[in-house]
Amino acid sequence: MSAPALFVVVAFALTALYFLARVVVPAFLKHRGKRLITCPENQAPAAVEVDAMHAAVTTGLGHTVLQLNTCSRWPERRDCGQECLSQIAASPTGCLVRSTASQWYQGQSCVFCGKAFGEIHWMEHQPALLGPDGRTVKWSDVRAETLPEVLATHKPVCWNCHIVETLRTSRPELVAERPWKQ
Ligand SMILES: [Zn+2]
Repeated sequence: MSAPALFVVVAFALTALYFLARVVVPAFLKHRGKRLITCPENQAPAAVEVDAMHAAVTTGLGHTVLQLNTCSRWPERRDCGQECLSQIAASPTGCLVRSTASQWYQGQSCVFCGKAFGEIHWMEHQPALLGPDGRTVKWSDVRAETLPEVLATHKPVCWNCHIVETLRTSRPELVAERPWKQ
């Protein structure tokens, strides 16, 4: 390959990489994740996931096209018109389940140890919930479409206390009492 041809190839590759990094990848990151919407058909909460790859590719082509990948009301209502997509287009991060949950923790404290919640880290030491039955629940056991009900009926619990509570209920002989409780 001649030097000018090589230059063209390298320049093209760099432009493509820049475009991927600045346009396509952010569009992918923005659209992935579980979201909570109000289903226009029955006005009840439903958990949906946007096809993030499709959204990213179409953003790269100049016009973002949203389509659903999953919905908690499928497969029964698989042929719905996906009208809820207008809610996601209007507020892409607002309906993200994790951002909704993170906001809920802000300004609250753990019901057991009283520690205030700062920024929520979902990758490690994620907080939990205390249900009306007195048991702590981890987020992976919460169905997204039940989020409004869960946030209304549960109390915030920090990761440490969730672990202690889980131990206390499953192996009471290991944890006699909460040492920090007066
Ligand atoms: Zn705690």
